[in-house]
Amino acid sequence: MIETSDMDFGDRVVDPGYTGDDNDIEYSLRPKTLNEYIGQDKVKENLAIYIEAARRRNEPLDHVLLYGPPGLGKTTLSNIIAHEMGSNLRITSGPAIEKPGDLAALLTNLSENDVLFIDEIHRLSRAVEEILYPALEDNALDIVIGKGPSARSIRIDLPKFTMVGATTRAGQLTSPLRDRFGVIMRLELYTREQLCDIIRRSSMILGIPCDADGAFEIAGRARGTPRIANRLLKRVRDFADVIGDGKITKDLAQIALDRLEIDMLGLDSLDKRMLNMIIKGYNGGPVGLETLASALGEEAVTLEDVCEPFLMQLGFIARTPRGRCATKLAYEHLGYEPGNQSDTGQLSF
Ligand code: ADP
Repeated sequence: MIETSDMDFGDRVVDPGYTGDDNDIEYSLRPKTLNEYIGQDKVKENLAIYIEAARRRNEPLDHVLLYGPPGLGKTTLSNIIAHEMGSNLRITSGPAIEKPGDLAALLTNLSENDVLFIDEIHRLSRAVEEILYPALEDNALDIVIGKGPSARSIRIDLPKFTMVGATTRAGQLTSPLRDRFGVIMRLELYTREQLCDIIRRSSMILGIPCDADGAFEIAGRARGTPRIANRLLKRVRDFADVIGDGKITKDLAQIALDRLEIDMLGLDSLDKRMLNMIIKGYNGGPVGLETLASALGEEAVTLEDVCEPFLMQLGFIARTPRGRCATKLAYEHLGYEPGNQSDTGQLSF
């Protein structure tokens, strides 16, 4: 199996990207079937139909594109697709496929009905993408032999396979690539109730005693993201073991999450710095993402992929053509009076 590359957004506990710390639990916690997969009902219902239809016709599933913020279950769904189709899963990622030859080697090693998962597919180079087009459309690989006037192209047939592409940025996919996916699905942030179910399931699998209120408390601060929910469960368990009696209750979860500096809504210090900067540094906005990122000393991609989806879901940030603006709700949450943010003209973070 070829390994996925990981996304690195720093060492925040509420980082939705994969970190080495998740290594030990991610595998055991991954649902293996659609029934075990919690939430994303629309995606699940449609996928179940497509899978059943493909199985009845004895054909591989059409190519699938999954998009949405990190940690929402795209890799998990690709595992489930392979499992439900009774196929082998091959995993790789956009940045791992550097040259067209790398992809050609991968494709020629596939077996009939395999599922090829390409994470961060928006990061494939143009040259690699071009190899992919005939592979996706005609199950063929066009190879050019030789150079100059004597160069000739030969076509190699490939086994029928399903490609599952995952991206956090569907907008960055070229349209020829996007058009070659028969199924395009968007994953949404999870509700608190769904995350609560995920935490209860994970605590059962990991043998962590956790009552319903404890799970609900963690779920409320997990930013709509299962990966964060599972990670917080692990961290809160440490507190339960050391300062409690090993059981995660509401009180214990509150103490632990406060100590981790994750507030009632799941905001951590970076989210708050970002909101504070917009409100106090830029009078509530609009402010461009790059300006904001350099003012905070962070990468624009971190703000855009990690902080923004969640802050927008909370209704704390609005995106306008001229930049990001903080909303009234953000002012209220941070305890500011809307409109009075620049009284002192001073920045304090
Ligand atoms: P992505 O590929 O979108 O970054 P993953 O598929 O790696 O996210 O999911 C991260 C973790 O979250 C997995 O280990 C899995 O245990 C958990 N997870 C994701 N979605 C679900 C779900 N719907 N139900 C239960 N657990 C989930």
